[in-house]
Amino acid sequence: MAMKNKIEPDDYRCRREAMVDRQIRARGVKDPRVLEAMRTVPRHLFVPDAHRTRSYHDTPLPTAEGQTISQPYIVAWMTEMLRLKGDEVVLEVGAGSGYQAAILCLLARFVYTIERIGSLAESARRRLEGLGLANFEVVVGDGTRGLPEHSPYQGIIVTAGAPRVPPLLVEQLADGGRLVIPVGSATLQVLTVIDKKGDKIITSEEGSCVFVPLVGKHGWESST
Ligand code: SAM
Repeated sequence: MAMKNKIEPDDYRCRREAMVDRQIRARGVKDPRVLEAMRTVPRHLFVPDAHRTRSYHDTPLPTAEGQTISQPYIVAWMTEMLRLKGDEVVLEVGAGSGYQAAILCLLARFVYTIERIGSLAESARRRLEGLGLANFEVVVGDGTRGLPEHSPYQGIIVTAGAPRVPPLLVEQLADGGRLVIPVGSATLQVLTVIDKKGDKIITSEEGSCVFVPLVGKHGWESST
């Protein structure tokens, strides 16, 4: 799916080029489609005004409702792990700003993205539509239950930290599908990859990361 070709200041385009070269390629992300998507999506449109000047910095940034937009490298790394070729139906848990979903829209056939906070879901939907993307649906709900009505998914990506792998997400993976999810404590997780091959579930651990908590029936309990 292509994005609306908007005129934007060269400055942002240059900053994205530098972000991809210095933060993403330099750390070993190689998939040319992922690199191109990271060069294409205007990350600054997903960042609140107060932090916009830092949109292309090598860091996560605060968004509304005490949540975050993930570090660009982590977005690219997790996306590469999904090994998307272009024809997949993908589920994202944790729409947040919608940035990760925009990247996925450029790389897969259709993207379902779930967000538990209604106001975030609504602004993510508006941003994605504003870019001319149409191969997505933003759903409000508890993503630890997955989205069974549209399963199976060739790829599932969870962008919040889980105490354990939610079993319904594994259930909703297609044969040959991949789930990428941060699993661990509330303060430090391991990026975990689960491959479903027939009856076999193969789990591997790829490295450390820090995400806001995945809150829900098969995640952390809500403190509010
Ligand atoms: N992918 C997002 C982006 O590109 O901006 C960043 C996601 S942010 C790190 C984590 C998001 O997960 C938050 O917006 C949070 O509200 C959401 N979240 C936490 N638990 C959830 C759940 N059970 N279902 C859906 N969304 C959840």
